[in-house]
Amino acid sequence: MKYIGAHVSISGGLHKSVLNAKKIGATTFALFTKNPLQWNSLDISDKEKKNFINLCKFFNFNLKMILPHCGYLINLGHPVDTLLEKSRCSFINEIIRCKSIGLSFLNVHPGNHLYKITEIDCLKRISHSINIALDKIENFSIILENTAGQGSSVGYCFDHLKYIIDNIDYKDRIGICIDTCHAFASGYDLRTKERCKKTFDLFDKIVGLNYLKAFHFNDSRNKFFSNIDRHNNLGKGYIGSEAFIWILQNICLNNIPIILETTNKDMWIKEIIWLKNNYKS
Ligand SMILES: [Zn+2]
Ligand SMILES: [Zn+2]
Repeated sequence: MKYIGAHVSISGGLHKSVLNAKKIGATTFALFTKNPLQWNSLDISDKEKKNFINLCKFFNFNLKMILPHCGYLINLGHPVDTLLEKSRCSFINEIIRCKSIGLSFLNVHPGNHLYKITEIDCLKRISHSINIALDKIENFSIILENTAGQGSSVGYCFDHLKYIIDNIDYKDRIGICIDTCHAFASGYDLRTKERCKKTFDLFDKIVGLNYLKAFHFNDSRNKFFSNIDRHNNLGKGYIGSEAFIWILQNICLNNIPIILETTNKDMWIKEIIWLKNNYKS
């Protein structure tokens, strides 16, 4: 089964995401379960929960393959204790929201040290934050997304991801989402088949392909190793199409959602068809 989709809008209600995904021919999708730029949000009503789950069932979307994205204010490695606590509470709330609509994992950016603590201290805080959440909530996994290394973010190199995982108490409930734009921006080349192989061999050696649980497929608007997080449509940026074909044909993608976060949404239908056509059957 191919799980290919895009990060769709929830404008008008959570159930709209399901309809938006269906419209573009997706077999899975990503969504925010609330406004990602606000701390607070209204609870999801029972009616809305039912609507979402029933529509997913109706259109044959596997709830276990839908990849919700965490809000942007949450910083699991925050250097200030009170604000770290606020992030941890909000993170747990987001997990509860996801679980309440039948989802079983949540994609999150690791965190930012804000130039106040070392990267290692920040990574330790992140692992601890995730342990607290996984301790509290059962049957749920956290998917860490690699970052572009913009600003003070950590998680831009495979060693960071490995360090976080090493300090997680629940190894079967932690995974990695590789965002191709972020990887490219942080110095992992994907421009040719050979460089793709080298990058994923390195990922396997440092982190382990068994931890790879999702992809964000994005081309990059900025040059290699720019540390700038600016996405582009597939084949329209500095990465080029070859990388995506290589991944589809060389990485085992069973039960791995592939999510487009490309900028021109009008291209999504075409991009999904193109990806499906290049998928190793
Ligand atoms: Zn992200
Ligand atoms: Zn992403």
